[in-house]
Amino acid sequence: MAKYITKTYRCPVCGEEHEYSVLVSYRSSNTYLDLGPTQREYFEMYLECPKCHYVSMNPGKPANKDAFVTVCSKEYQDCFDSDLSTAVKKCIAMAMMSESEKNALSAARSWLRAFYAAEMDQQPSETYRKKAVDAYQNAMESGAGGLALEDFCALCDLLRQEKRFAEAEELANALIQNAEDNKNTDNEPYRVLLREKEYIHNRDHSRHLLKEEVA
Ligand SMILES: [Zn+2]
Repeated sequence: MAKYITKTYRCPVCGEEHEYSVLVSYRSSNTYLDLGPTQREYFEMYLECPKCHYVSMNPGKPANKDAFVTVCSKEYQDCFDSDLSTAVKKCIAMAMMSESEKNALSAARSWLRAFYAAEMDQQPSETYRKKAVDAYQNAMESGAGGLALEDFCALCDLLRQEKRFAEAEELANALIQNAEDNKNTDNEPYRVLLREKEYIHNRDHSRHLLKEEVA
């Protein structure tokens, strides 16, 4: 069961006041190996101003100055005029703002969420998956701080889905080796990486659930 509270915020970009239904908590029963959600509530963490379409997780916080420019841009407003689903639009909006702030890791995570949203809403998703892979590789090459094990595991799964099996395997091997060197193997990411190796070996590029039904 998802829990919501109603909150009123003044949009830090356009200045209009609106009531928002804010997600407080929800129970997630399963995810995909790329850490994508199986529940729509996941995308409700992003709140969108009904007037200017500014998207953020907390409209009570002042907007970054780059956000003003991005929200007013034609590209941003065209995205909200498009036929994409609301969840996809919100994730693209976050990615655009992260890119304008030159926050490579946040951009990667936002493109990844745009991919999740497109998958959930059965819209073309490959563009966003490619953008997420590029953004993650860019974040790693530029030495962006804050990359977590989950980010590396998600990237490994995306590379496999992209049929870039050699790169996926190289990354999986490095992560497995690192976990074994640190005796950090009694955990879900490690077990997931072993499964990734099997899928890579079988040239399986489909999306898999973390907890799969056993036939
Ligand atoms: Zn606004």
